[in-house]
Amino acid sequence: MNWADFKRDANFIDGEWVGADGGGTIDVTNPATGEVIGTVPNAGADEARRAIAAAQTAFETFSRTTADERAKMLRRLHAAIMDNQRALAELLTIEQGKPLAESMGEVGASAAYVLWFSEEARRVYGDVIPSPWGERRILVTKQAVGVVAAITPWNFPSSMLARKIGPALATGCTSVVKPATQTPYSGLAWGVLCEQAGYPKGVVNILTGSASAIGGEMTSNPAVRKITFTGSTPIGKLLMKQAADTVKRVSMELGGNAPFLVFDDADLDKAVEGAIASKYRNSGQTCVCANRFYAQAGIYDAFVAKLAEASAKLKVGPGLEDGVVQGPLIDDKAVTKTEGFIADALAKGGKVVTGGGRHERGGQFFQPTVIAGATREMNFAREEIFGPVAPVFRFDTEEEAVRLANDTEFGLACYFYTSDLSRAFRVSETLRYGQVGINAGVITTEVAPFGGVKESGIGREGSKYGIEEYVDVKYVCISL
Ligand code: ADP
Repeated sequence: MNWADFKRDANFIDGEWVGADGGGTIDVTNPATGEVIGTVPNAGADEARRAIAAAQTAFETFSRTTADERAKMLRRLHAAIMDNQRALAELLTIEQGKPLAESMGEVGASAAYVLWFSEEARRVYGDVIPSPWGERRILVTKQAVGVVAAITPWNFPSSMLARKIGPALATGCTSVVKPATQTPYSGLAWGVLCEQAGYPKGVVNILTGSASAIGGEMTSNPAVRKITFTGSTPIGKLLMKQAADTVKRVSMELGGNAPFLVFDDADLDKAVEGAIASKYRNSGQTCVCANRFYAQAGIYDAFVAKLAEASAKLKVGPGLEDGVVQGPLIDDKAVTKTEGFIADALAKGGKVVTGGGRHERGGQFFQPTVIAGATREMNFAREEIFGPVAPVFRFDTEEEAVRLANDTEFGLACYFYTSDLSRAFRVSETLRYGQVGINAGVITTEVAPFGGVKESGIGREGSKYGIEEYVDVKYVCISL
């Protein structure tokens, strides 16, 4: 199949490809060219209610399949993804903008999550607890939570669904998914993949449209037993409040403000390599991208110079063009916001070392930018940039670096570079983050738990921990 075969202009509800009841549609644009590449249904609460009802009906039988059957279905889903990796990656680049190599990597990661959960499906163990009563036995079992509602963002339009659909399918949950409006096609493509893998109707439902109407139905409908969300902290808080009325389980992967510390004793070339990978992946549009660089006084100037030199070499352009490593930003709002961070820093005494504004290719392309002399007064000290701007702050002592790194309400990912083993342990234990990279700038993998503390979220995705979020613990007491 080629990418156009996966580009569905319809929603996937109860095994059928359907339009929105009201008939409205939403345009989808290619961020590299501004061209409209298609339209998707503008669904609302009614369609969401139908999808939830379909998922509830499907749950009755799907939750009774054996772990072995679910593992086999997930392996077929994995094969369907890998057989079409290139087509899915092209579609992803066309709607999202990231370079094709990154899209290939993302689709590969989606497949890896599915394969991982196919393996974990067979390892959802319970317990037998030694009983305090001679005539009674105590069993603990794990049962699928029920219908899961998932809302996903535009920066990883394929793999964010994999992390949610994967464990749902592994445990016997059914799901209703709303992909981001900017990038619906990679989400809808999961409907085609589920058809290919042979999933029964209603097990996975995907709808596009009004976020507030669909989100409102998902959070208020009592049939939905869990809501899983990846996106901004304000929307995450809203969904948690809405979900409180029916006491749903929640998993929230929210914003970050990742610090990246470089100590005097670090391997500087390795630190720059990690900094480039961490900062500029997806043009800086990931929640684990380094947001604040802190370089110790002894290596500050050298680090800034090397980082700027490496940043200036990154080729910017459309994601399907050969050699491009920096695609466009997702929309014009993102460009204006990124410009705002730079203007604010310059007004407060920061210095642009490389880049500094829109790229000569026009549209939504932006120059990889390094800013020296960053201070706590600048907006990017507190807010997530979500663009290709690397501010570098100076620090003197380890204690100061840790304090600055922790001085945020976020706690998703952090990174630091040192060659001192004691410092590696000391610092990693005091950083209040869900994920720590030591001498490593990109650390996400399906086998490790992804997630944050503080206002970066609740729950973990991927790994053996990720599956626990999709099962309820049941205690069974048997009197003999
Ligand atoms: P971003 O800034 O990355 O777009 P958002 O949190 O706004 O982050 O969006 C992430 C996902 O949440 C998208 O699928 C978006 O459509 C959805 N979303 C936005 N507003 C709401 C809402 N009020 N209720 C439910 N989902 C929402």
